[in-house]
Amino acid sequence: MVIWHAFNSLSFWHRRWVLIFSIMVMMLAAWPSQHQQPRTLTPSEIATAAQPALSGDEPSSAPPRYTTKRVTVRRGDNMGAIFQRMGIASTDLHQIDQLDGSDPLRMLQPGQELTFKFNQQGELHSLYYPHSVEQALKIRRQADAFVARSITLALDTREQVTEGEIRSSFWGAAVAAGMTEDQIMDLAAIFGWDIDFAQDLQPGDRFRVVYQNKFRDDERVASGDILAAEFVNQGVTYRAILHEDDNYYTPEGKAMRKSFLRAPVNFKYISSNFNPRRLHPVTGKIRPHNGIDYVAPVGTPIMAAGSGSVVAAGYNQFNGNYVFIKHAGNYVTKYLHLTKRTVNKGQRVKQGQTIGTLGGTGRVTGAHLHYEFVVGGIHKNPRTLTLPQADTLTGRELANFKRLAAPQLAKLNQPDLQLAQRQESDRRG
Ligand SMILES: [Zn+2]
Repeated sequence: MVIWHAFNSLSFWHRRWVLIFSIMVMMLAAWPSQHQQPRTLTPSEIATAAQPALSGDEPSSAPPRYTTKRVTVRRGDNMGAIFQRMGIASTDLHQIDQLDGSDPLRMLQPGQELTFKFNQQGELHSLYYPHSVEQALKIRRQADAFVARSITLALDTREQVTEGEIRSSFWGAAVAAGMTEDQIMDLAAIFGWDIDFAQDLQPGDRFRVVYQNKFRDDERVASGDILAAEFVNQGVTYRAILHEDDNYYTPEGKAMRKSFLRAPVNFKYISSNFNPRRLHPVTGKIRPHNGIDYVAPVGTPIMAAGSGSVVAAGYNQFNGNYVFIKHAGNYVTKYLHLTKRTVNKGQRVKQGQTIGTLGGTGRVTGAHLHYEFVVGGIHKNPRTLTLPQADTLTGRELANFKRLAAPQLAKLNQPDLQLAQRQESDRRG
């Protein structure tokens, strides 16, 4: 600080000369030491710059006149911090920050790798950043400016077939069958119109899945679509095949998607899939009950089972916070004991939209969702009711679907897969 004040008190010309002189001194001082200076090269960097770049798994071939340096993003890192550590000029940082297409650099994740190349003058020549499994950003100096280019990374898509049998939990069986979290959620979503994954699963239920995985150098880097699947729930077989329109259909060409979800709660929030709540949460006695109770943690999102409009949303001492939704075709669904409501009376809601969160408001002893399904004024069991059918493929579309579906169905029909995963799931059970 003292030096700075003294420096500021000098005249303009004095300051300039002092500055030039100090820069020269700093450069000389830096020469034999390992001390890192922003904007100037350290001796070790100068030494390596003169050597040919090591050839590694570099995506582009490296001419020997450039030095390559790889940096792993640390927790709390950002572009500015990394550029400073690399000794890159702040004018370069500014230019790259302003560059069209450089946005991925603002979302660096710990563990990701950036590859820098420097020319013999120690200036940044190029930067390579694979920001997702399928996309990389390449920035290169061209004359006085930088240019950014997005590169699509080649992945090898492989089809796989797996199967599992539920012993203690669907999740565990699916993981043992080699499925990723995303694929497990996808599988539950495909059959979520027919099967209540929160309450209807039983030990002995089975599934078989034909799915894609994306590989690079024999390593799975991403999970792909489920192409076909079979789920046997309580002895009833459901099958679904992905069509070109990105929707799933039964082998007969009927849409899997229906007007109502079987359950207004995602199964992943339900602690046990094999604990049907036959007891009323208040009286503790088994009694006829106009709805289904879902027990899950307070705050679990509650979904509209179907699209419609909110006909009631309020609070009373029995229902606690409640939401009633009216759907086309004289259907009404009711959701009780919510912690909070996120929709208002008169509002339109879409299927799957969050309408509130699970709670323990009203006349209850423990937190749960009380869900009712009313058809023409009469309470029905939504888990066993035949729900209104959505789209069905017809004509040429149906013929096309059946042609494409045939090979997938054959994979579902294979008598026994003899997979290692199956043995795995048996061991777990
Ligand atoms: Zn209830």
